[in-house]
Amino acid sequence: MHPNLTPDLALADRLFAALRARGFDGVGITRPAYGPGEQAAHDLCRAEAEALGLEIATDPAGNLLMTLPGTDRAAPRLLLGSHLDSVAQGGEFDGAAGVLAGLAVLGGLVRAGFAPRADITVLAIRAEEAGAWFPTSYPGSRAALGRLPEEALAVPRLDTGRSLAAHMREAGFDPDAVRAGAHLLPPEGIAAYLELHIEQGPVLDSQEIPLGIVTGIPGSRRLRAGRVLALLWARCCRLSWARSAR
Ligand SMILES: [Zn+2]
Repeated sequence: MHPNLTPDLALADRLFAALRARGFDGVGITRPAYGPGEQAAHDLCRAEAEALGLEIATDPAGNLLMTLPGTDRAAPRLLLGSHLDSVAQGGEFDGAAGVLAGLAVLGGLVRAGFAPRADITVLAIRAEEAGAWFPTSYPGSRAALGRLPEEALAVPRLDTGRSLAAHMREAGFDPDAVRAGAHLLPPEGIAAYLELHIEQGPVLDSQEIPLGIVTGIPGSRRLRAGRVLALLWARCCRLSWARSAR
């Protein structure tokens, strides 16, 4: 019979309080990517993971892997997690909720003495708020999979003007290894990835639905330059509308 498996909610409460105390800027939460606030959040999560006896690893980009070993170490692992950086004056739950939920789950499994069949890894990802700090998409996730293109390492952080590689190095990590594609998460070793994330729109809240399951993800496209031809557009549309209305 399986033990009663419940997440360690006290662990999540404790970590949320610690993150709030460290990251509150007077309005919201601010944890710049590869800044001291993000590092402090990683340190807090790492300390909890060590207390649980999880295996800890950090990849060359500084992504943190906290693993409860499975009974079959060769089986593809289950990944849980999210990011720990935030936008300026961001919300308390964005990113952090996914990492803390994963740790609460593993805390519950450890407490129950339950060994899963495959490894379960909580991943705390670096630098996911690309639009706020480094204007390139998801450098932490891509580096975790060994897929960060070289040019992304040269992208400057918006507030300091210094490159992603420089910030990575300053934080104690290894952009040269990232450039060479070194990583700890080969895709064939991943069975599934589950990310709990706060909804960033009003739908669930307005309809009082506690939980939604994402069935699709929109791509994002960043344009470096653009021209707005509004007058031309307006004339065209008026013309075609006028024609179709006849
Ligand atoms: Zn997020």
